[in-house]
Amino acid sequence: MGMEHLPGNPHIMLKLQIPRWSERPRILMLMLAMILPAAALIAFSAFYLRNMQREKAIEAAYHVEYERMLAIAEKEINWRMYETADMARSEFPDRDNPGAIDGFLETHPEITHALLWTGKEQMVFRSQSSRLASGAFCAEDQTQASDFTTWWNLDAKMYIDKLRKYEAHEGKHLVFDDHWVSRGDKWQYQSLVMFIPRGSSPERPALAGFIYDTDYLKNKFFPAALNEVMPDQTEADSMHPKTAMMVRTVKDDFPLAASNHWDGGTAEVERPFQDVFSGLILGIKLRGTTIANVSAHLFRNHFMILGALSLLMGAGMILTYRSVARELALAKLKSDFVSNVSHELRTPLALIRLYAETLELGRISGTGKQQEYYEIIRKESERLTSLINNILDFSRIESGKKEYSFRETNVADLVRTTLESYRFEIEQNGFQIEQKIDNDLPPLWVDREAIARSLLNLVNNAVKYSSNEKYLGIRLYRHDSSVNLEVVDRGIGIPEKEHGKIFEKFYRVGDPLVHNTKGSGLGLSLVRHIVQAHGGEVAVESAPGKGSRFIIILPLQRLGIQQVNEVSA
Ligand code: ADP
Repeated sequence: MGMEHLPGNPHIMLKLQIPRWSERPRILMLMLAMILPAAALIAFSAFYLRNMQREKAIEAAYHVEYERMLAIAEKEINWRMYETADMARSEFPDRDNPGAIDGFLETHPEITHALLWTGKEQMVFRSQSSRLASGAFCAEDQTQASDFTTWWNLDAKMYIDKLRKYEAHEGKHLVFDDHWVSRGDKWQYQSLVMFIPRGSSPERPALAGFIYDTDYLKNKFFPAALNEVMPDQTEADSMHPKTAMMVRTVKDDFPLAASNHWDGGTAEVERPFQDVFSGLILGIKLRGTTIANVSAHLFRNHFMILGALSLLMGAGMILTYRSVARELALAKLKSDFVSNVSHELRTPLALIRLYAETLELGRISGTGKQQEYYEIIRKESERLTSLINNILDFSRIESGKKEYSFRETNVADLVRTTLESYRFEIEQNGFQIEQKIDNDLPPLWVDREAIARSLLNLVNNAVKYSSNEKYLGIRLYRHDSSVNLEVVDRGIGIPEKEHGKIFEKFYRVGDPLVHNTKGSGLGLSLVRHIVQAHGGEVAVESAPGKGSRFIIILPLQRLGIQQVNEVSA
């Protein structure tokens, strides 16, 4: 841009803050519209989960499910037992053939005792003959025989009636009862099966029965039955852990028998057997864990997912807020830019027209005056050209079409000639120029026009933003592996927090001293782009009231690489 921008032009009032206060409520409204439903959903889910946790809903659901499983299991086990016993019944001797009972027992080792009642005091009680060698069993045999004789003499008729009715109504031939015997100091559970033997009639009634031994129930029947009724567990996982079932007597806490994988402990849900195995209890539990644990695990997982979702939402909110704020601020900057540039174009055009018309009318007599007008017209056109060049450059950069033509250059010469063409104007504006240029610098590969424009932008800013002390320092020197070009002023300076932002496109510091100066906010963003294209960086050191130092750092090494690229291209 031209050199005649002096502070004090009250043309442009800009206030750039990101985001502006007036925009904040709009952004927040936008955010709330997005976030509120999601937040409400999360809060509702958390509340719902919490309630479920408090009401032990998962535990309750497990209980209901397990009670259902136990009911089904009981039915299946009963049916199995009934089938087994009914098979044995069909092999039981005729009522008039009590001598065959021993043979029946021999073929059914799972049965300990068999009985046949054919009338008052007509009772046959037989036990497994192979086990009678044991004294304890022999004693058991005798007590059982006398107990049953007493009992059946009293109750046989009642059982026969019951069985008849049962047969007539339900088509079943067997009645079961629990039967306890004490072996040693322990009560043993046995299962008594009663039925009407073949050859009986109402006139010649008879009642028969046999007893399944504890050992058979414990070691054979229940393990097989329990494993069979267990649900398929191939799809068990941590959410649906495997289950195990067991059977215990009402007199014991520990299992009489259990399915595979029973891992000790007590059942979580139990159901007393009715009908076939009264006196026994069926129980179910989870393997390796408890319902309470599973429920706690499930709730923990759900709460963690909700927590993660909330975090994501929070992060999303922050990101969206920032990006929307940035977009809004950029939109504002762009509209400010358009009005700034229009102002900047209008002033020189008006001046050019005014002076050209005056000259055209031929009213200016003195050649000195004429000369002055011509000069104003030239300077104003130069100012227009440089503004338009900046804008064109910027638009090329934005669309990615900016190309640089790198040439081996004596940077000291470049800086000197660039300054020379503006020296007079700068000094006319009352500036004292201090120039320190190292002459023995290595030649660099640079785009001469671009570097000159960068320097001019910095010099122009130094002039624009100096009011009291009009000092301009230019330094060019070698520093380690780079060549530094410094532009120093003692002007209004820039607060530290603005140092990063001033290089952004359209950005202007929100200071009244800056407002009063014309500008498009493009200069420094162009400088930075140009310097970075040369592999370098631009830095700023500045404090309000103390002035500013802008440093263009052009690395020697990188420029060497550029050179190689140029050649190979
Ligand atoms: P502008 O056209 O507004 O000068 P620039 O991109 O060149 O745009 O500069 C961006 C902003 O940086 C300026 O608006 C001004 O606030 C600040 N700035 C740049 N150079 C100087 C300086 N030498 N002294 C004080 N402030 C400066």
